[in-house]
Amino acid sequence: MAKEKRDWTGDILLLAAVGVGAPRWAGAMLAADVGVIDAKLSNALHVLNLISGMAMGVLEAVAIYYMLGALRGTKPKTTKGKVNWRWWGIVVFSLGSLALTPFILAPYIQARMQNFGMTGVLSTAETLNRWSIAVTLAPVFIVGGVAFARGIKKPTETKKRSTRSAAQAAPRKKYACGGCDERYVKQQSLAAHYRHFPEHKK
Ligand SMILES: [Zn+2]
Repeated sequence: MAKEKRDWTGDILLLAAVGVGAPRWAGAMLAADVGVIDAKLSNALHVLNLISGMAMGVLEAVAIYYMLGALRGTKPKTTKGKVNWRWWGIVVFSLGSLALTPFILAPYIQARMQNFGMTGVLSTAETLNRWSIAVTLAPVFIVGGVAFARGIKKPTETKKRSTRSAAQAAPRKKYACGGCDERYVKQQSLAAHYRHFPEHKK
């Protein structure tokens, strides 16, 4: 049997999702401990946030594509008829990621259109709260969904393999009896069948 192929896409996505969150965590933890972050440190965090923000954007798109691909390779129930938690996990986290998208992108698009800046669009405490929670949740949903989706074979791969093995297991029976449903791989077998049932031969 062939060795299980490692799911590199899943591993990289998971690492990247955790990695892009690191500057945020660092900043939040520093703020919690130190209270006010001095200008030098804040500038360093700003650069890290710029990089991680851009990476996050790409990651979000690739991860949703990856999660939905894995979803097609799995089913809500296992072969034994039990609940397949991986399927449900992917559904919850991929739908969550999709649902977060308008909450995150719409204010940004408005800000760009009106040349306001984010705080101009998110002028009330409520909108600001909602947006910051959505932005915080986005990478969490990616980590969760990719963790569930990791290692699931894409349906195209499994399909290719199964049709190949089926073709190997059962060679084509191209010699069909004219009088019944029997089919044979070899012409001699069909001839033998006709000897037993001469009435089948037309
Ligand atoms: Zn026959």
